[in-house]
Amino acid sequence: MSAKIIDGKKIAADIREELKAEVAALKEQNIIPGLGVILVGEDPASQSYVSAKEKACKNIGIFSDDNRLSADTSEEELLKLVDQMNKDPKINGILVQLPLPKHINEAAILLAIDPDKDVDGFHPMNVGKMMVGEETFLPCTPHGVVQMLQRSGVETSGAHVVVVGRSNIVGKPVANMLLQKKDGANATVTLCHTRTKDLSYHTRQADIIIAASGWPNTVTAEMVKDGAVVIDVGVNRVEDASRERGYRLVGDVDFDAVKEKASFITPVPGGVGPMTITMLLFNTVNSAKRANGIN
Ligand code: NAP
Repeated sequence: MSAKIIDGKKIAADIREELKAEVAALKEQNIIPGLGVILVGEDPASQSYVSAKEKACKNIGIFSDDNRLSADTSEEELLKLVDQMNKDPKINGILVQLPLPKHINEAAILLAIDPDKDVDGFHPMNVGKMMVGEETFLPCTPHGVVQMLQRSGVETSGAHVVVVGRSNIVGKPVANMLLQKKDGANATVTLCHTRTKDLSYHTRQADIIIAASGWPNTVTAEMVKDGAVVIDVGVNRVEDASRERGYRLVGDVDFDAVKEKASFITPVPGGVGPMTITMLLFNTVNSAKRANGIN
């Protein structure tokens, strides 16, 4: 059996079309969703993420307030800018691109963002709301994973989901979202990490595997039961002399071998990746709606 490929680009494009229509309807009520973007320093990867986010905003009609600051910006200056954005009614979401330079306390900056504008879903208040199943901003990558499962018709209710990785931005939140007593969730979740004894024992029991370890080939074909659904969150560079840039991107799953056993699988690139920015746009549009009392 060869798995059905879950096309993240297509699902992301569908959601963006839905959001574009919502933004157009909001414009008729003179509401323009706004995203405040802050990038400190000149890290090339961060610059390209931020440019992609700004371009995606423009494409669907979200106003983006672009702030590119020098690497020697002080924590105080950054806190002042966050405070201005917190108070600015044109800004519905605030995105501080991580990582920040070492002299800035990242936790202090994230805590300073108004939880009602925390479109990354990293503020402890929103993390707590997610944990107890309240309506809130959900972090973008794990929310993208949940959307991909739902929109591919994968049943999560009663399914055994094994998540590989327990980071605060992927593993823990995706596990938490999928165990909620809600439609599109209701799974039995096992969360694995580097201290897990016999990872493959757990993954072989899984109806759905979500790989977020940050290492190529963490999930191989022997670790997957026939017909399992495999979602690969990983993005890793591996050397490839045949490419002009000298590397290619792979996920955390041995894609070629696992696709012969799985029922559904996400590719890398073109799987979870395009969903992350899309869910950021989703949160920004929802924030604008909430700020204007629209459900
Ligand atoms: P991270 O902070 O490095 O966390 C990795 C987690 O995986 C840790 O909990 C670690 O366990 C666990 N782990 C590592 N190797 C393992 C192994 N062999 N067996 C079991 N557990 C293992 O990474 P992250 O930020 O969550 O990101 C994970 C991957 O997703 C990365 O490749 C990243 O680039 C990618 N990512 C993609 C997107 C996207 O938009 N597509 C967004 C975010 C991240 P310990 O806690 O015990 O160390």
